[in-house]
Amino acid sequence: MSQRDPLKTYRAKRDFKKTLEPVGRERRPSQKPIFVIQKHRARNLHYDFRLEVGGVLKSWAIPKGPSLNPADKRLAIAVEDHPREYARFEGVIPEGEYGAGTVIVWDQGTFRNLREPLSLERSLEEGQVEIYLQGKKLKGGFVLRRFRRGTKELWLLIKMRDKKLDTRRDILKTAPQSVLSGKTIEELKNK
Ligand code: MN
Repeated sequence: MSQRDPLKTYRAKRDFKKTLEPVGRERRPSQKPIFVIQKHRARNLHYDFRLEVGGVLKSWAIPKGPSLNPADKRLAIAVEDHPREYARFEGVIPEGEYGAGTVIVWDQGTFRNLREPLSLERSLEEGQVEIYLQGKKLKGGFVLRRFRRGTKELWLLIKMRDKKLDTRRDILKTAPQSVLSGKTIEELKNK
């Protein structure tokens, strides 16, 4: 991933004549950095967690999805940067295309960098990102911690121990629908 065009890998994987996913032209940062979590039923169901850093969405695929329970350490596999506009994407990625399947915007909102004055870029390099999410479903402090480097970077997403933790409620089950359309992934697929 070159510094000059962080979206090169993203674009190389996709044929924009076939998929409705955005090419990505917006590079102006948001007033407040945004995050999004997309529920994605591809070959395997997973949740894509994306954080706005430096005008793009840094992205991780989380097979089990996020949890509000600090005891849960959720594997997060780093994937290619996505364009900012991707935060609004939901729909069906056609058969034969990269990521073929259905995507809904499961949660979105803004976040704060809890390691300030250390930048998010530095935090990513160090492999320790601490953020406070202000989403519709996910709120409170979360840590992303890298535990393996290399071609496939592996991280863990862990809820911090604060007032927003919840050890009883499985938010993936109690709030499965899109925050944009109100639809579940099954409803969107069958429309
Ligand atoms: Mn995905």
